[in-house]
Amino acid sequence: MVFRLFSTYKNIPRVCVVGAGPAGFYAAMHLTKKLENVHIDIIEKLPVPFGLVRYGVAPDHPEVKNVINQFTKLAQQDNVNFYGNITLGKDISLLQLREHYDAVLLTYGAEEDKTLGIENEDANNVLAARNFVGWYNGHPRDRNLKVDLSGHTAAILGQGNVALDVARILLSPLDVLKKTDITDYALQAIASSKIKELYLVGRRGPLNVAFTIKELREQIKLENCATIWRKNDFVAVADAVNSLPRPRKRLTELMLKSLNENDNAVSDNQKVFKPIFYRSPKKFLVNSDRHLQGIELTCNTLIGDKIEEQTCVPTEDSEILNCSLAFRSIGYKSIQVDKDLPLNSNGVVINENGRVTSTDVSNLAKLYVAGWLGTGPVGVILHTMGNAFQVAKLICEDLKKQGNYNKGGFLEVKSIINERTPVIDWSGWEKIDKYETEEGKKLGKPREKIAYVEKMIQVALS
Ligand code: FAD
Ligand code: NAP
Repeated sequence: MVFRLFSTYKNIPRVCVVGAGPAGFYAAMHLTKKLENVHIDIIEKLPVPFGLVRYGVAPDHPEVKNVINQFTKLAQQDNVNFYGNITLGKDISLLQLREHYDAVLLTYGAEEDKTLGIENEDANNVLAARNFVGWYNGHPRDRNLKVDLSGHTAAILGQGNVALDVARILLSPLDVLKKTDITDYALQAIASSKIKELYLVGRRGPLNVAFTIKELREQIKLENCATIWRKNDFVAVADAVNSLPRPRKRLTELMLKSLNENDNAVSDNQKVFKPIFYRSPKKFLVNSDRHLQGIELTCNTLIGDKIEEQTCVPTEDSEILNCSLAFRSIGYKSIQVDKDLPLNSNGVVINENGRVTSTDVSNLAKLYVAGWLGTGPVGVILHTMGNAFQVAKLICEDLKKQGNYNKGGFLEVKSIINERTPVIDWSGWEKIDKYETEEGKKLGKPREKIAYVEKMIQVALS
């Protein structure tokens, strides 16, 4: 065995990428372009690739998912392998990977979400937007989420693009959703949803929203949905517009335009989208069954002279928002999946431009990090791509310096992994893909995702 490894693999660097999301694929793409000879193994926890492109991006944004075509071409190259259903920290350790590769790049993303840390956050019907997104997108982890849409009013806490995705999915006409790859069970639940009124709660003001203009425009234009702003939230905002940087200026102008067009009239068949500002969640209010009844919100005020530089501070005042469903949408968070991995208090792997230098040991592969695990959970796919390219460039430089390679790569890893863990390779994913597309066709949609790991494995190995 040792002889075979040395003779076969001599002088081909072997890189292990952990996580088959955009960061992993883009980094692998850069490595294959820039290194004449390289062998890349992409190890992924789920039997299926693409990370948040599959399980985060909203079903009604199919154009965003076109990156999958590039990733697929890459995975079909001879020197790139996809190995699904392998979890770092469970099936294999970081140390083991570093023993058997010349470089290890971690791109396993941000799998958890931030919490508010307030009373009754664990009540029924207080959901993490992350889980709700996973639910409508068919993530096996969220398949059985209890989503109760029987109430009239819901609230989303946080004003980022994830919050707007959640709002749009809840308020979109069914005819639009039907044609997407939203899971059938989510479609059925949304079809009988009674939600008419949806609040989008921000702790700061209109000049501080985290969502972007395209997503807001989409929301405002939704058929059969009125957008109602509170005029008081916009005091002095119009005066500040001209001094804002361009993207923020255009976004603020859109909000003001919508505010001014708004006559607060809502017809019977319309749903209502209500962004509100300067309110921080203080406590979830529950009944004796721990069912959500409302949210107590602290009223914030602004301090500072220039409106665009003002900060929010809490006042003594609070108000009650009555609602029977709430989504926490205040950002994602990475987790430490292996004891040897240094994360800071924000859940980001401690790194210098992608190099995890604190873990350098002469006989082990160098360790790198890219994507949300290294940058924090911010940025669209384009940002993630830029970061992945930059980190891959460093890996190329380091590997060229190293010069000599004789690691066993996946042959060694395979012998470590428990035999009961079936490894799903690219041809296995292709079978799942085909199955899902065919199931989708029967329902008049692009695909119907398999939402169970066991079923994915069964199809992949069939
Ligand atoms: P991820 O995409 O999360 O990939 C990480 C991968 O690692 C996953 O496949 C995961 O299963 C795997 N993994 C996790 N743990 C392990 C482990 N222990 N072992 C092995 N593998 C593991 N950007 C846009 O440009 N347009 C959009 O419309 C858009 N919509 C979004 C919607 C939502 C809800 C969210 C949260 C983000 C959205 N983004 C969008 C941002 C985009 O998804 C991110 O920029 C990008 O996915 C980050 O890539 P990543 O590779 O770092 O992480
Ligand atoms: P985000 O953009 O960071 O937004 C988080 C929101 O939560 C902000 O409004 C923030 O307010 C608020 N918040 C944070 N902590 C809070 C607290 N303790 N109490 C109350 N509010 C709090 O995060 P995200 O929405 O999860 O999105 C993550 C990334 O994915 C972003 O870069 C986003 O653009 C991207 N994404 C893109 C798309 C798309 O392109 N269509 C879709 C989804 C996601 P403050 O500003 O006051 O902190």
